[in-house]
Amino acid sequence: MADNVNRKLLRSIPKIDQIIASPLLKDPLDNSSREVVIDAVRRAVNDIRTDILEGETPDISVETIARAALDILSSTDRRSLRRVINGTGIILHTNLGRARLNARAAEQVTAVAMGYSTLEYDLKNGERGSRHDHINSLIREVTGAEDAIAVNNNAAATLLVLMALTYRKEVVVSRGELVEIGGSFRVPDIMKVGGTILREVGTTNKTHLYDYEKAINENTGALLKVHTSNYRIMGFTEDVEPARLVGLAHKHLMPMIYDLGSGLIPDLHDYGLDEPTVASALKAGADVVLFSGDKLLGGPQAGIIVGKKRYIDTIKSHPLARAMRLDKMTLAALEETFRIYRDPKQALEQIPVLSMITQPLDQVESKAEAFTRMLREANLQASFAKLDGVGRVGGGSAPMLNLKTWAVAVLPSDMSVDELAIRLRKWRVPIISHIQDGMLLLDMRTISDDEIEPVYMALVDILS
Ligand SMILES: *Cc1c(COP(=O)(O)O)cnc(C)c1O
Repeated sequence: MADNVNRKLLRSIPKIDQIIASPLLKDPLDNSSREVVIDAVRRAVNDIRTDILEGETPDISVETIARAALDILSSTDRRSLRRVINGTGIILHTNLGRARLNARAAEQVTAVAMGYSTLEYDLKNGERGSRHDHINSLIREVTGAEDAIAVNNNAAATLLVLMALTYRKEVVVSRGELVEIGGSFRVPDIMKVGGTILREVGTTNKTHLYDYEKAINENTGALLKVHTSNYRIMGFTEDVEPARLVGLAHKHLMPMIYDLGSGLIPDLHDYGLDEPTVASALKAGADVVLFSGDKLLGGPQAGIIVGKKRYIDTIKSHPLARAMRLDKMTLAALEETFRIYRDPKQALEQIPVLSMITQPLDQVESKAEAFTRMLREANLQASFAKLDGVGRVGGGSAPMLNLKTWAVAVLPSDMSVDELAIRLRKWRVPIISHIQDGMLLLDMRTISDDEIEPVYMALVDILS
């Protein structure tokens, strides 16, 4: 122990019992176990002791230590995977969990998870059923496919399809479509893992039908089209229409596999969304179509495979299908999501991804306007303004769409913009903002009506 240590201060640290008796700790004592609270108090006392041993002279009042214990309690109480508020304007933000699940699906997940369920039970005959059957007829109804199976995500779906249909065979892909998604999914790599031989054809900007045709030989297993979901090649370009690729594949008695990426159900061209729909891919004749559950579909994380029954049967019976099968919660969410799509108008209202994309700009503006006014009236240490800007669909979808949007810009007067961003991230319900031109922006397209109140409370608290 160093000589400058204040032994008197060390000896005067209040006893654990004294601190526990503080009215500040009454609430946690009533609501959680006594051991947990005592442990937090011990840790707070240890921190004080360490400070004193290091030559500091901290405040050792009961109140201060009790407050430190409260901080410890609330930080250890915090979950790692938590809900956040997305003020970035990116609707499918991969780091923030991609699609917000629709409310009906979330309710159905809870019901199925908390009780027993018909996961693999056939109620009619009182015998074993198949988990694949829950979503089959719905997906057929909504997309027009002959058959369907869903697995854990679209990367898994791609791997499964390649292993089941083209193992040790060549698959022909255009060089313009060798996609990488989010760093960990690369078409050439997944093909290698799937035991498929990649046969690249054409060039980055132009691939013709005859490029595919020349590459076909007796060991070719399929033609693969990959939707360039997170980029577009502009300028002097050419690719082959899905229907023409199907024609070529069928002429050579092989399937055309189409990795769509996003899985858009309703046609949203009117909203500027240049994305093919699942139905259009099937209508073009694609034999197997794959897409994600949590991109534009707005459902849970999943990889959905739809197409001709004979191929889906082969895929279903592959041993890997068992390793990639969905759990009951995801199946419940997926079934409910597809139920919503039975009525396209209902889908635009109830699927959050779609309602955010299609929300009229003037509605977003009035939301920004009202929130700006509300914040100005609170007399905070900051100035506020509504600002127009450009949001993104994100999540590897519709990369060319500049989604016009409105944000509330915040310029704090007694802290930096970075400091404000950090404080918002540390808020009870963390708020993720973005900084642009020295201002903190909260995009009102991705902040829902029920989230305005918590954002307001956070700003009032931080900026008072
Ligand atoms: C997003 C995407 C994938 C990967 O889907 P996950 O569901 O994230 O596994 C595969 N292919 C394409 C074209 C994609 O856009």
